[in-house]
Amino acid sequence: MRQFKAESKRLLGLMIDSIYTHKEIFLREIISNASDAIDKLAYRALTDDSVGMSRSDFAITVEVDKDARTITVTDNGIGMTAEELDSNLGVIARSGSGEYKAAAEGEDVPDIIGQFGVGFYSAFMVADSVTVYSRAFGSDGANVWQSKGAEGYTVKPCERASVGTSVVMHIKPDTEDEKYSEFLEPWRLRELIKKYSDYIAWPIKLDGETVNSMKPIWQRAKSEVTDEDCAKFYKEKYYDTEDPAAVIRVSAEGIVSYKAMLFIPSRAPYNYYMRDYKAGLSLYSNGVMIMEKCTDLLPECFRFVQGVVDSADLSLNISREMLQHDRQLRAIASNLEKKVKNELEKLMRDDREKYEKFFAAFGLQLKYGVVSGFGEKRELLRDLLLFPCSGHEKPVSLAEYAAAMPEGQPYIYWARGDSAALLERLPQAELVRDAGYEVLYLTEEVDEFVVNALGEQGGKELRSVTADDLGLPARTTQAESEKRAEEAKDLLDFVRETLGGAVAEARLTDKLKSWPACIAAKGPISIEMERYFNSLPGAGEKVKAERVLELNPEHAVYAKLRDAFENDRDRADAIVHALYYEALLVAGVPLDDPAELAGLINELLV
Ligand code: ADP
Repeated sequence: MRQFKAESKRLLGLMIDSIYTHKEIFLREIISNASDAIDKLAYRALTDDSVGMSRSDFAITVEVDKDARTITVTDNGIGMTAEELDSNLGVIARSGSGEYKAAAEGEDVPDIIGQFGVGFYSAFMVADSVTVYSRAFGSDGANVWQSKGAEGYTVKPCERASVGTSVVMHIKPDTEDEKYSEFLEPWRLRELIKKYSDYIAWPIKLDGETVNSMKPIWQRAKSEVTDEDCAKFYKEKYYDTEDPAAVIRVSAEGIVSYKAMLFIPSRAPYNYYMRDYKAGLSLYSNGVMIMEKCTDLLPECFRFVQGVVDSADLSLNISREMLQHDRQLRAIASNLEKKVKNELEKLMRDDREKYEKFFAAFGLQLKYGVVSGFGEKRELLRDLLLFPCSGHEKPVSLAEYAAAMPEGQPYIYWARGDSAALLERLPQAELVRDAGYEVLYLTEEVDEFVVNALGEQGGKELRSVTADDLGLPARTTQAESEKRAEEAKDLLDFVRETLGGAVAEARLTDKLKSWPACIAAKGPISIEMERYFNSLPGAGEKVKAERVLELNPEHAVYAKLRDAFENDRDRADAIVHALYYEALLVAGVPLDDPAELAGLINELLV
């Protein structure tokens, strides 16, 4: 007896103990494996005459034996060798048992079955013993895999005349809570096939009759398929419990003819931003799947799109490298890119709430696209971005911001910080807001790179509120401010020296209103970029912005500082440090030693 891998054993235990309430999906899982196996052999048959089968020869049969309490699902697909039986059916949760544990503690248990490739094991939810007879294409002998659950399994040679696989499930006895026997009723099985496996491209036969309608949903006329049908198909195929935000149907005739059904999910799969997420559209040619995840059909920035592309014009022997050079494929890709963009714009216009939800899930992906893309790709995404903004409850697009600008507004202003609430109080933004201009709140790390990449909107420069020149009417004349700076020279030198190497410069500003001081940076690295780069894993040498402490000469604290500078240098020293730490805090820069600030406050309070 062979043992299941340790993680598999735990999972199998959980599954048998029925954490999962929809036991009925076991049939869908077994049938979908059978269908995959047929896909593989049918594909082989196109290029390899030794298969000796044509499309119409393939089928999946479901048989019930009430007396023996068995359901048998047979396919004439590719089959499995003894090694494959061992490796494919001996391990569960290949795609990540760690994540499984995490997820199993949450609510969404049902989704796990598909997501983690534990499909086959769902048989144990209804069966106390599962036997798999299989003969692989190209091999002489057949083998039988058998397991009664968590104890382990055996693999032995057996007799089987033809290539393919039979999965025999011995159904559990009824309990008080569960009437397993209902799965031995043909009407019930028929119902399940209709419900879950209707679009399987191969006939599923029960009592000699084909139960499924077979024709893939994307091949049917738009008028024949309702939105609900599409959503149902999406949810089953991509293991989402939520309807997609949008469905895109394409039926193109021309240089290259194809049909496509694309889905824009309304939320990100749990692993979307992780490495193991596999993006790509399924590529079919005449109903035969030629590639499960084809990434050449959509640009990286739209990798969240799911769906199917089916074209008889594609060559079946296409390889991954050839795909990139394939003219037909490129024509399809460029068309799909436009369709997705149009659909997103439409969603943004017509169903803002849905779009915002979509953007919360995938906005980051679009922003990465702006940063890493060039020219055309950037422009493709510009109109799809949303940012929180002062004076607006909901996020706005750049175009919306620009359209609402008062006449004469010189720049489009933005501020970068951890949250809109923090930015709402950013000292530097105060006068901009007072002038009647709104400020875009950039709350994600990538945002600053995004605005730098975009540069402008409708000819107006995107400018940080921490920039020296904000284009606001000057509050003091040039001569006045020079005079003031001259008068303050000794004090400013003192401030810089007192702070040691912490700041490169101390200066007066007329950018502030109700705040006595703020922190700015000179040179190419902003305070926010410094934080970003230093937060990256493995950041070696610390990146340092050249900090500038800016003081508001109109503020009462400034008068106090002057006074102390003249009469009590210790006190002046304490005020300077307190102002510096305060400015850092308000800018969202964590203090190395918060106790120092607390000590300073105490000192100044007595
Ligand atoms: P998944 O289908 O998600 O990969 P399963 O646990 O359902 O996970 O199946 C594991 C593997 O076993 C499949 O990927 C496939 O290689 C193999 N397999 C299962 N059923 C069959 C079948 N009927 N014919 C051929 N291979 C199969």
